[in-house]
Amino acid sequence: MIIDAHTHVYENGSHGGVEQLITQMKEAEIEKSIVIALPNVCSNIWLLSQCEQNIGTLYGMVFPNFSLETWEKDLINLFSHKCCVGMKIHPRIQNIELDDQRVERAFEIAEQYGMPVEVDIFPWGERLNSPSLKPFALHPITQKFPNIKIIIAHCGAPHILETMLLAKSNKNIYIDLSFFLKYFEGFSFIQDLEPLCKKIGYERFVYGSDFPYINLNQYIVIVQNMFEDITNKNFEMLTYLNTKEIFKI
Ligand SMILES: [Zn+2]
Repeated sequence: MIIDAHTHVYENGSHGGVEQLITQMKEAEIEKSIVIALPNVCSNIWLLSQCEQNIGTLYGMVFPNFSLETWEKDLINLFSHKCCVGMKIHPRIQNIELDDQRVERAFEIAEQYGMPVEVDIFPWGERLNSPSLKPFALHPITQKFPNIKIIIAHCGAPHILETMLLAKSNKNIYIDLSFFLKYFEGFSFIQDLEPLCKKIGYERFVYGSDFPYINLNQYIVIVQNMFEDITNKNFEMLTYLNTKEIFKI
């Protein structure tokens, strides 16, 4: 059994919709998926309604909508929804830095509601050189909230050695494996992943794909090939057990 802890669905159905996700999940024998809301992809409320219609299969991760004055109250309401399992901060898409007061306030609320927080620091596009888009940028907020489980999306690629040092210094850091193994296929730093897992421990990793940008079946094959030499127990931790525990699903 596998849980995919990193997928998206488009509210307007333009790239990948709920039906397409569920079809691919069946094909790839993925039992559950955590779907992440993002500005211009899907709204929090719509996502949670879709999860409710697919209860036990889809779970929602919401983002604080800093563009609304009511964002704190809204976030509390979202966290109270039975299908909400976490919060996402995406500094590049949300146009915010990790040292912003509002990010700290969102973490305070997440802590209060026992929500894990995923942060995407993938450097790309107009905000390529933003100071928040590197693994070490997560260190201050991670230190400030030692009780929150913080997941670094896409393994912090391409800076995965920095991710290793971040995880070594902070026991509450977890590492998401989505997207980068396909995007950086053939690049030498991918070979650093297995030593990274050994150094940090397989209990700190979560499997994800990044559907619809990545095909579910294709990605699980890439990950199976990458980890073909590890024990079944370790593989089960990284594709199922850790996510179950972190997100309480
Ligand atoms: Zn994503």
